[in-house]
Amino acid sequence: PRATIALTGLAVMGRNLARNIARQGHTIAVHNRTTARKDALLEEFGHEGDFVGCDSLEELVAAVQRPRTIIVMVKAGEGTDAVIDELVPLLDEGDIVVDAGNAHPDHTRRRQQALEEDGLHFVGMGVSGGEEGALEGPSIMVGGSEHAYTNLGPVVESIAARVDGTPCAAHVGPDAAGHFVKMVHNGIEYADMQLIAESFDLLRHLAGLEPDAAAAVFAEWNQGDLESFLIEMTADVLAHTDAQTGRPFVDVVADAAEQKGTGRWTVQSALDLGVPVTGIAEATFARSLSGHEVIRAAAREAFGSDQAAGEVDGDLVDDVRAALYAAKVVAYAQGFDQIVAGSREHGWDVDPAAVATIWRGGCIIRARFLDRIQEAYAADPDLTTLLTAPFFADVVRESLDSWRRVVVAAARAGIPAPVLGGSLAYFDGLRRERLPAALIQALRDNFGAHTYQRVDGPGTFHTDWAGDRSQSEA
Ligand code: NDP
Repeated sequence: PRATIALTGLAVMGRNLARNIARQGHTIAVHNRTTARKDALLEEFGHEGDFVGCDSLEELVAAVQRPRTIIVMVKAGEGTDAVIDELVPLLDEGDIVVDAGNAHPDHTRRRQQALEEDGLHFVGMGVSGGEEGALEGPSIMVGGSEHAYTNLGPVVESIAARVDGTPCAAHVGPDAAGHFVKMVHNGIEYADMQLIAESFDLLRHLAGLEPDAAAAVFAEWNQGDLESFLIEMTADVLAHTDAQTGRPFVDVVADAAEQKGTGRWTVQSALDLGVPVTGIAEATFARSLSGHEVIRAAAREAFGSDQAAGEVDGDLVDDVRAALYAAKVVAYAQGFDQIVAGSREHGWDVDPAAVATIWRGGCIIRARFLDRIQEAYAADPDLTTLLTAPFFADVVRESLDSWRRVVVAAARAGIPAPVLGGSLAYFDGLRRERLPAALIQALRDNFGAHTYQRVDGPGTFHTDWAGDRSQSEA
């Protein structure tokens, strides 16, 4: 066999990933259920590298050297299971099956255990960067065994984005660690985009900037600490004019944001792990709210959609920048907390500094401040929270007055800012000396005898609320 690696699933992502691999000089066997996609790839881009076209999975398996590394890049869920079921009987012990789709980490664990019983290696590999990233250099989060990475590593490191010469690809941990990190990446992406959207809403409706003027503000922000792929893209999208109507493009797009599920998975996982990822959760709910046309129409009819006249004190535009930055720090801190918690729960030993390193390029959330996150975790791998790392603590301290002004102004004007506001509440919640959780625990003891602990000594107690209100040790 000629090929050193194989790939099945040649829709937008798989086709570009295959071209990227071929361009890096690897001989790649390619297959797609509908062969027309494979034929189209070879016809249009066959000259870019050494492709071995295959019409069936049998041909694909026969075309690649052992131990075989076979990348599966098909529709997540049933598509992945269907391909794996067909592939497994064709493979030999020691072969490596790589799922490069957006799988739920629990599915990856299940598939890994099943393939292990057949003597196969299963790798859940998160790929971020969309269509263009897949071709030009994505960020790649690899899970699975060391043995699998020995074979797969050189290929993925050669096709990944590079920042300062370092590939944005790494073996982040065994088992489902790669897909877990990719899932949280997407969750952070939800929070990041929602923060940008809220900031635009405020710039437009409080500061009175039309989309083209707001575009200029985002372009300027992209020159500073906020420099990131999403801020840069925001400037581009806001400056775009709809050819049909001549209106700002953002005004002709229906205001209902869809989701494929990775944000929801991140929140579900965070609830199970007990990690308060308020930014990701609020962002996921904000998308959900945007799609509820019927309830939105009923509320508009009942309450009107008027906006109170905003009172703008000081430099609102700069306040929004500072609020966006601080809230973004919170969202990333929460996401990294979840990665650390997931890693502990499953014994994956994921290095947060390595995650920050591979997110610096190629992926959707690539941003200048990931360098600072990498430095913070490199300096202290057991960091309690990113928020208190010196660099980020300074960001939050310097932004705090602006952040509060923005949240107040948004609430006064009636402009929803769930992530800007929710992350401020999270921050204040963390630093508060005493939380009203004391009252909640007292209520729980009252209606359900759930007991409580006291501030002045050890022990667990219950009060006889219905009787003489005496306290007994539980
Ligand atoms: P799609 O998710 O649209 O999946 C289409 C591909 O899956 C086609 O090759 C299709 O084959 C194949 N397929 C579906 N069901 C089956 C089946 N039962 N048996 C065999 N093949 C099947 O493609 P994308 O390229 O958008 O995404 C691929 C993966 O990458 C997904 O898991 C996605 O979540 C993930 N991803 C996507 C990103 C993006 O920006 N689009 C970014 C990062 C990850 P056929 O041509 O025969 O229909």
